[in-house]
Amino acid sequence: MVNVDRRLLLQTLALSASGLWLPFSPAQAAAGCRVTDVRLWNAPDHTRIVLELDRPSVAHNLTRLSDPERLVLELRDAEWDTLLNRDLLTDTVVRDMRLTTVRPGVIRAVMELKNDVRPRSFMMKATGNKGDRLIVDLFRREATEAQQEERNSRTRSRRNSEVTVVIDPGHGGEDPGAIGPQGTLEKDIVFSVARKLANRINSMPGYQAHLTRKGDYFVSLHQRVAIARRHHPDLFMSLHADAFHIQSARGASVYCLSERGKPSPDRAIRNLVSRENSSDLIGGINLDQDVAPDVAELLMDLSQRHSINRSLVLGQKLLGSLGNIPTMRLHYRHVKQASFAVLKAPDVPSVLVELAFMTNPSEETLLRKPSHQESLADALCDGTRGYIHLTRRV
Ligand SMILES: [Zn+2]
Repeated sequence: MVNVDRRLLLQTLALSASGLWLPFSPAQAAAGCRVTDVRLWNAPDHTRIVLELDRPSVAHNLTRLSDPERLVLELRDAEWDTLLNRDLLTDTVVRDMRLTTVRPGVIRAVMELKNDVRPRSFMMKATGNKGDRLIVDLFRREATEAQQEERNSRTRSRRNSEVTVVIDPGHGGEDPGAIGPQGTLEKDIVFSVARKLANRINSMPGYQAHLTRKGDYFVSLHQRVAIARRHHPDLFMSLHADAFHIQSARGASVYCLSERGKPSPDRAIRNLVSRENSSDLIGGINLDQDVAPDVAELLMDLSQRHSINRSLVLGQKLLGSLGNIPTMRLHYRHVKQASFAVLKAPDVPSVLVELAFMTNPSEETLLRKPSHQESLADALCDGTRGYIHLTRRV
């Protein structure tokens, strides 16, 4: 590897000394790390930049330059094997970005910034259909103040509102969730249904809805639980679309947490749990910094048992109204219990709804239809209202 590099360097020096310049052939640098894709995702408090690599590690550093504010990501023993899609810069903290080659084996991503940011970077191992990745997160500094203001206004509005519902559109960003035969992504469908549901809930007097994810970006499972708890909601609803290796599997199902996170005796449910719980590994959690202690272990107490009982009531109401949609089937007629990480807020009745099977071609077609998404939102809204009437008598 070293010999190859030295030969290339001598070749380059010789060429520049003779005033000639030849494009650098990627084949000659086969020993280096190839960056095969660059993606950007924008969240309210940060922009995430993902470099897909052909190996599990690469030497890199981040340097800040001012006037204008820039951040330089330099990779050594690496080469670009992709172009930047500039559309991805829209709404991010990055005003402009250039992918450059300083010299053979040394490449840079030069980012001109719109905002003052706090950067961090970490590696993620290959998983599913994603390769090894270098992740650079740029946190907006002013987001902290905005978040505080949001918290204050939440406390204010909470006083005026009777019922608060937190809706959690599953997956997002790097994590597409289940992918249908036509290429439909679970993250897009559940986000669309979640927004429709939030609009319906917000239009009912005395009700207020909040989303854990407001766009196409990654939110870790424990962040989703934390966002939910900050709102002190009456209930939490995580929306998903199922996947199974047999295409004929169909129908909606509703899950709540099992006591003490007991694994389900049903293998199909255990597989579903491990798929939904693996979101953090696919979507990009920084294992050194982002992992909270397992709330299930700490807080599995009376309040959780009470929440589970309420979750069962809520789930049954939702199944009742989903079952009323003429085009719908139910996969299970009763609420199933399993150890989903996203349902572990100890004091909030929480359910996970699998709207249908994304892997079933006719259900995928249904899920894509805006009219069916409206019906799903109507049914979930009716079920929510039924549960609130039963438990709070409002
Ligand atoms: Zn899912």
